[in-house]
Amino acid sequence: MSETNKAIRGTNDILPDESYKWQYVESKMIETAGLFGFKETRVPVFEATEVFVRSVGDTTDVVQKEMYTFDDKGGRSITLRPEFTAGTVRSVIEHSLVNGALPVKVCYCGTCYRYEKPQAGRLREFHQFGVECFGAPQPSADAEIILLANAILVSLGIKNLSLEINSIGCPECRRRYQEALTQYFESKKDELCVTCNERLNKNAMRILDCKSPVCSKIAAAAPVMLDYLCDDCKDHFDAVREHLRSAGVNFTVNPHIVRGLDYYTKTVFEFVSGDIGAQSTVCGGGRYDGLVDQMGGPQLPSLGFAMGIERLLMVMEKQGCEFPKQRPIDVYVAPLGDSAKFESTKICMSLRNEGFSAVTDLSGRGLKAQMKYADKIGADFCIVLGENELQTGKCSFRNMKTGEQFDVALGDEILSTIYDKKINAVITELSDSIDDMSGLLTEKK
Ligand code: ATP
Ligand code: MG
Repeated sequence: MSETNKAIRGTNDILPDESYKWQYVESKMIETAGLFGFKETRVPVFEATEVFVRSVGDTTDVVQKEMYTFDDKGGRSITLRPEFTAGTVRSVIEHSLVNGALPVKVCYCGTCYRYEKPQAGRLREFHQFGVECFGAPQPSADAEIILLANAILVSLGIKNLSLEINSIGCPECRRRYQEALTQYFESKKDELCVTCNERLNKNAMRILDCKSPVCSKIAAAAPVMLDYLCDDCKDHFDAVREHLRSAGVNFTVNPHIVRGLDYYTKTVFEFVSGDIGAQSTVCGGGRYDGLVDQMGGPQLPSLGFAMGIERLLMVMEKQGCEFPKQRPIDVYVAPLGDSAKFESTKICMSLRNEGFSAVTDLSGRGLKAQMKYADKIGADFCIVLGENELQTGKCSFRNMKTGEQFDVALGDEILSTIYDKKINAVITELSDSIDDMSGLLTEKK
């Protein structure tokens, strides 16, 4: 296949028979976030490059290697968002939300772009759902967003994730840590990769995030931030853990989590899955107390997380999580002959106006081909409209599941027949599940 007929490497098409899963997952996420008081916000796919460089940090992999940056026709440097926090912070400052009622709680969902090596769970265009909470200094806020991430994962039926948390302190206590870290890595300088040697001079903490096996091994034995926390950061971390314990959420403290973006302070966390191979982090987040101020807004302790939707879907497929069924086509209307086509359009519109999905022939096919198509698209009912039927004011009505077939008068009787059949189907489904439940109850007794 020629390159022009193929999607760009690292991008995926979400095909019509897959999109219902995305709609389900995304709406569940937004709905659950709503229970915690988060409202959806939508920010542009691209921003001035500076927005990301200033917030994500110019020593991070994201800014150094992964951004899609280009000059637009007006000569401005533009970058496709590699994540949402930077644009969201820009937006809440620009629209003065940070000067209104605090905390401001927003969530978002959409595509992100990173020039990375494509592999399972790592794409160049991928989707994130995330939340940001501005103006919430209390440890209860850290716990709340972790509980929200957990609630979303639970609501999707995902199991066996581990929650790992750490504190990377504040700029005060981090200064002492950076010194200790630099000293440690200086002693291993010759073994570190070329990039980490550069990191050593600029930001030694970035070495902790290096994916090279040699550097990771050296990093594993490096001093940990937890041993350098100031009293305030230590108390904060203790309180976050206490909140999580009292909410009954299991977690482990992993002193090696640093996160790949520079803006984090104090609490950082990840949800990790053992089911999807090397790209195992499905959600990452933490506190960023200095970011709003750094981006030109007020001094506003804030925090958030982001989850990778592709990775979550991979876990869900692997674990056999249930998705609700795709919306069926309720009725296929098969017109035979020209005058039947007008009637068919009319019937379809009256069905759609009542909230039923209705599809008709747009290709000029004969009856057999139309029935085949109706079957392929999974229509529940089929209405056949021939010249004879039109003359007698009737149409032939067929239940595609049972094969039952009878005549129905054109007009309101079509609607009442479909209502009738649909209601019967719902009643049968309900009584089946009532039977299941009472069966379960008797078993329990
Ligand atoms: P990783 O360590 O896997 O590179 P990260 O630290 O760069 O992740 P974040 O910037 O915190 O990731 O993004 C939050 C989440 O978005 C990740 O936990 C992951 O689920 C998802 N994600 C990040 N980069 C990609 C990508 N290139 N393709 C698919 N999902 C991604
Ligand atoms: Mg990354």
